[in-house]
Amino acid sequence: MNYVHHAVIGVGTASLGVAAAELLGAPLAVPAAVAFGAVTVILGSIAVDIDHPKSYISNTIPTRVIRLAIAGLSLPALVAVGVYLTTRDLQGAWTQFTAAVFGVAILRWMAVAMGAALALMGLSWVLCRSLHHRGPLHSLVFTAGVTLVACLACWGVGLYWWWGLWFGWGWLWHILADGLTEAGVPLLWPFRDQRLHVLPRWGRRIGQVLLSLAAILGIVGLITLRLHSFID
Ligand SMILES: [Zn+2]
Repeated sequence: MNYVHHAVIGVGTASLGVAAAELLGAPLAVPAAVAFGAVTVILGSIAVDIDHPKSYISNTIPTRVIRLAIAGLSLPALVAVGVYLTTRDLQGAWTQFTAAVFGVAILRWMAVAMGAALALMGLSWVLCRSLHHRGPLHSLVFTAGVTLVACLACWGVGLYWWWGLWFGWGWLWHILADGLTEAGVPLLWPFRDQRLHVLPRWGRRIGQVLLSLAAILGIVGLITLRLHSFID
């Protein structure tokens, strides 16, 4: 399963839950909250594969960010090289470069984003080497731990703590969907190390299809409900 499939399953199952709650009489969530929730679920869905250095979260996104940052930082770097070639003053050229980068907000953010992207790639490499792909990160215990950290992080930055539950929701459905594939996941780590499956062998393929259909139904259903309430 690729990252798009995981994101659709995460958002789709969440949409099913929200649509069911609204049909049962819960107040309609405002569109901005639905959009923010969807982004949080997607982040949780794609973050699980940080234990694979070639995944979307640990390779595709960081390399794009780094390419953008290099393009943005190349101009002050060229100016600094020019300063060095004309003055032979390495420290002066470096001071010129750092002053340009830290003095301009967009360049400063590019440098921060580049540092974060490199850190993400490094973290992925360490996790793959130590825990291995589809290792403990793909377990229920880790899902609970990550959800708790996400809730604390939301609370820490002044958001409602329960926004972290949506991140955990994306994480949970990622490992459940991976549990429908042949390779399986160590769902019960650290109590059992072997990779397990959510369904017996005969039901895995149909389970994948039904889960994908349910997810699409959830997204379409929630959009339809929204349009309906809009027209009313
Ligand atoms: Zn995975």
